[in-house]
Amino acid sequence: LPLLHDAHHRLTPIQAARLGKDLEPYRPFWLEDCTPAENQEALRLVRRHTTTPLAIGEVLNTVYDYQALITEQLIDYVRSAVTHFGGVTPLRKLFDFAAQYQIKSAVHGPEDISPVGMAAAVHLDLAVHNFGIQEYSGHTPLTEEVFRHAYTFTEGYLHPGDAPGIGVELDEELAAAHPYKAAYLPVNRLGDGTVHDW
Ligand SMILES: [Mg+2]
Repeated sequence: LPLLHDAHHRLTPIQAARLGKDLEPYRPFWLEDCTPAENQEALRLVRRHTTTPLAIGEVLNTVYDYQALITEQLIDYVRSAVTHFGGVTPLRKLFDFAAQYQIKSAVHGPEDISPVGMAAAVHLDLAVHNFGIQEYSGHTPLTEEVFRHAYTFTEGYLHPGDAPGIGVELDEELAAAHPYKAAYLPVNRLGDGTVHDW
């Protein structure tokens, strides 16, 4: 099975270039978010040094964020989520734009993308010709109960099911019985205690 490595924007451009080059013999599926997505200059340097496929975009929200990345063919996969990109239509347009440059889709799918967002992603994946891969991390049993969905995940493959629409029913009574509790991402600190982007 191919490996996918996520560097979470932590590498410097030259570290990312070297990692991509060192990983080439192992043919990884991709190197994700190797450098900060906001500094797109960095990817020009990485690209010059490695043929390891690059994926980026889970923190990007508009097609304009991708303009240089796509037209200069600095990436191989676009990673935005339906829920962060303004919905199905804008993301569909992004995928069509990317397709002109042989760049594929790879919709972001962590647990905090609800089953509604996941169902929308699975349907969109089926509608585009440059589908690449779909991230999926599943949800807690309670989330699965509140959001009854038609899509299924079996042995690495998602199936949309055959329910109408995107196939998700929200059980409002069950949801009301479990009030929202605030939750935060971990605070990351360096060895000297400095707060650091995680
Ligand atoms: Mg990621």
